[in-house]
Amino acid sequence: MKTNEREIKSLIEAVEAKYSERVQSLVAAQQSFEKKVEEAEKKVSDFTRAIKENSDNVCRELDSNKKENKKVCEEVKGIMSKHSGVVSETYADKLKRGAGCAPVILKPKKSQQSNITRNEVKECINPANLKVKVNGMFNRQDGAVEIKCVNNSDRDILADEIKNKLSQKYDVEIPGLRYPKILISGLSANLECDKVEKAIRKQNDVLFEHLKCTKVFKSQKNPRVFNAFIEVDGVAFKSIIKEQRINIEWDRCMAYESDGVLRCYKCWGFNHKAAMCKEQHQICAKCGENDHSYRECQNNFVKCRNCSIAKARLNLADIDEKHDARDSCCRVLQRKVKLQAERTLY
Ligand SMILES: [Zn+2]
Ligand SMILES: [Zn+2]
Ligand SMILES: [Zn+2]
Repeated sequence: MKTNEREIKSLIEAVEAKYSERVQSLVAAQQSFEKKVEEAEKKVSDFTRAIKENSDNVCRELDSNKKENKKVCEEVKGIMSKHSGVVSETYADKLKRGAGCAPVILKPKKSQQSNITRNEVKECINPANLKVKVNGMFNRQDGAVEIKCVNNSDRDILADEIKNKLSQKYDVEIPGLRYPKILISGLSANLECDKVEKAIRKQNDVLFEHLKCTKVFKSQKNPRVFNAFIEVDGVAFKSIIKEQRINIEWDRCMAYESDGVLRCYKCWGFNHKAAMCKEQHQICAKCGENDHSYRECQNNFVKCRNCSIAKARLNLADIDEKHDARDSCCRVLQRKVKLQAERTLY
């Protein structure tokens, strides 16, 4: 029995020893596991910090890119507005550039080149002796020249001198000034012109010194709608264009500034209507060819006929002709708009 007890005791001791060994190894395993977890946690937090720093940088970069983009946009806008010419100008800009001061026009009675007209004027007339301020002399395609002055009284002095000295060879003209024109869009009825005028006077808070409705016509885009042209004095013009709307009978119509340039829908030239056009064939506004209209155009290029004529006639290499003849970037159109503005009583 004693032996047995001893045996059991030593057995228990052996088991305990084994057990404590096992416990120790488990503790060691747990510690190493905890260490690994700690390491992993540290790695994750480092990684998170790195990501955050990176994304902060990306954000900062995006922000500075945004600012850079904005700067580039502003620059492009600046360049565009510098080159977009007269069409984007407001009437206020036109006012600043001496709108409403018509030029003196010298037309040779016998056909001759503009340069000959120009030289003859320079030989016979001296603006310094007349004390007039000249704004420029411009050749026209028909052999005439236009002389602009900074104001009407200077212009009249110059015109009188030219008439005295050159009226045998030249017709001297001062074109009449016109009232600004407004295109009214969105009439629901085909009203007569006097009804349009009456409604405009009674239904709008605008005082008119001059008001004339020149035309009411069917809209090309929407045949159920009618448009109209009106001529008004400069003060009324400003207030209508500012409001952008005008009331006529049952409609509140849109009001747009019209450039006043007369276009031909047959040849896309200026200063005449299609009915008076000398061109035999329909010219395409898109490609400039003379056997189809722009609606039927199948060509995949654009070429403005007005600019290609001007380019050939005036030997100008820098004129861009790659646009639709109706496009506001057209240099020939811009020149016509500018001329109209100078002859308008804004
Ligand atoms: Zn024409
Ligand atoms: Zn075409
Ligand atoms: Zn053009």
